[in-house]
Amino acid sequence: MKRARVVVVGAGVVGLSTAVCIAETLPLCSVTVVAEKFSPDTTSDGAAGILISEFFPDIPLARQRQWFKDSFDHLFAIVQSESSPEAGVMLSSGCQIFPEVPADTKPYWSDFVIGFRLMTDRELKRFPNHKFGQAFTTIKCECSSYLLWLEKRFRKAGGLVQQRKVNSLEELSISYDIIVNCSGLGSKSLVGDAEVYPVRGQVLKMEAPWLHHFVRVADGKTYIYPGIRSVTVGGTRQDGDWRLQLDEGDTESVLQRCTRLEPSLSQAKVLCEWVGLRPGRRSPRVERELVQLRGCRVPMVHNYGHGGSGITLSWGTALEAVGLVRQCLHEMPLKSNL
Ligand SMILES: Cc1cc2nc3c(=O)[nH]c(=O)nc-3n(C[C@H](O)[C@H](O)[C@H](O)COP(=O)(O)OP(=O)(O)OC[C@H]3O[C@@H](n4cnc5c(N)ncnc54)[C@H](O)[C@@H]3O)c2cc1C
Repeated sequence: MKRARVVVVGAGVVGLSTAVCIAETLPLCSVTVVAEKFSPDTTSDGAAGILISEFFPDIPLARQRQWFKDSFDHLFAIVQSESSPEAGVMLSSGCQIFPEVPADTKPYWSDFVIGFRLMTDRELKRFPNHKFGQAFTTIKCECSSYLLWLEKRFRKAGGLVQQRKVNSLEELSISYDIIVNCSGLGSKSLVGDAEVYPVRGQVLKMEAPWLHHFVRVADGKTYIYPGIRSVTVGGTRQDGDWRLQLDEGDTESVLQRCTRLEPSLSQAKVLCEWVGLRPGRRSPRVERELVQLRGCRVPMVHNYGHGGSGITLSWGTALEAVGLVRQCLHEMPLKSNL
């Protein structure tokens, strides 16, 4: 029986999640991941990996809730399994604090994280410049472990992996029936999407094993996230900034802001610093289209543009992408063979 040949471009958290979902749920497809960079060199690798999502105004709330819930449920099942240490997925408790009371005091994802509640005045006294706070337990997914774990799971499901840069979609249409685009920021050139832009983030990994609870300022620019081997201390959100080199001014600013929140950080050792470019877009693009390549209409599924929420939404958007691949299969001429 002829199998549909599916190629997934991208080996960040979105690409590998999508590849695993396709390989495990559509056994009549052969799936290959093609990517220029694999772990430890993707954007996903350095992300703090905390499950909290921004709100995308153009995406219906029900769809965003589904993405968050599916991702949370999937990762929570890993937390509760013996795979948790290898996959680098753990529960993380802490708070999100606001300098002023926000208009929306209860984000949509508060229904899915554990024990969401508003902070008391007594708790807020620890953060004198902040008037409002939310306490909850969420998940921290450390991609330096999780990506390797996903790749292993993908290979076990029969998936193939190739390291190379894709310069044009035409080169893929020779060998594959369906193209799944999970190239993140790379989509700017690969599919010519002018809406995609970098959101530069600089973080420090610090040794502070006495810290166990995260603190995040609500604008997402200042945070302290204790993890398995280090504490991720950040950060920056610089729209349109393509610089991958470290900026000393950013390092100083991060340390100053975070030490103000957690004075004991002044005693912590800096283990390393890292810069990554989030794949910014007004909304993630999860949709399918038919593209004209070398005179043929080739089905293509997009799954990219998750901005600062790529780890958080990766499994949910991967499941939606699988549904789109299934629709492509039903409409393909070789469907009689599947
Ligand atoms: C400092 C920082 C902190 C963050 N913290 C969090 C957080 O706490 N929680 C959260 O949810 N998110 C967080 N994020 C965001 C998260 O990292 C991204 O949303 C996520 O990594 C995007 O994943 P991706 O797979 O789409 O992209 P990437 O990880 O960038 O992967 C893209 C893949 O596509 C490949 N590719 C691109 N173009 C081509 C091409 N032409 N040919 C072949 N391969 C190609 C690349 O090589 C790579 O394999 C953070 C980001 C940063 C920078």
